[in-house]
Amino acid sequence: MNIQNNIAKSTDPVNPEQFNEFLRIIGDHPVEKGKNTPLREDAFILDDELKIKKIEWHFKEIMAILGLDLTDDSLKNTPLRVASMYVNEIFSGLNPKNKPQVTLFENKYTYNQMLVEKDIRVNSYCEHHFVPIIGKAHVAYFSNGHVIGLSKINRIVDHFAKRPQVQERLTEQIAEELMQVLKTDNVAVLVEAEHMCVSIRGIKDPGSSTTTSSYHGKFLDRDFRNEFLTYISGNMKRT
Ligand SMILES: [Zn+2]
Repeated sequence: MNIQNNIAKSTDPVNPEQFNEFLRIIGDHPVEKGKNTPLREDAFILDDELKIKKIEWHFKEIMAILGLDLTDDSLKNTPLRVASMYVNEIFSGLNPKNKPQVTLFENKYTYNQMLVEKDIRVNSYCEHHFVPIIGKAHVAYFSNGHVIGLSKINRIVDHFAKRPQVQERLTEQIAEELMQVLKTDNVAVLVEAEHMCVSIRGIKDPGSSTTTSSYHGKFLDRDFRNEFLTYISGNMKRT
């Protein structure tokens, strides 16, 4: 059976209200287009199983065009492996159903100072070359009476990293989500990452890295920003 006959056409109509609702659910804001991952309106008409079959079919084509023998034992399962990896793992952050559910806790300790979580792993993919962006995110916030479990911050970073990305957008999306979830503007996000499209191809400059930041609320104040930067620089005086 030709799988192509089973898929929805790109011209299938999608209700704009439903699409806006979808954007709301995944934490993207329809008004601020620059921060949104550019998704097609029919992005989730196909279910994951069908997406995997379709990507497998196309990846097989790519490998065949490159001249690879797909009857070879080592290669024959690669198209399915890649398709499943795209949908279930490295691009799973495209799908709103995979967004981490966050529970807010009351800030019982009345801790009102800066909370910093640093060195959060970032494994993302450059949307221009589909090769890895590997780095770290550092996040800080002031509680607005509520806190979230620390590992949820890692999960939020990971969710937005698991999309074809540009680092600037990734940084903004993490900050936007944290502001929304924590119900406060007092959020800072800094991402440092190495882009494989710079390291292993093109200019081939391994070791160079890119830093992006997104400061809001209190972090627009230089003193708070410097405090955050001191924490993450690892140069804190230990007494
Ligand atoms: Zn790139």
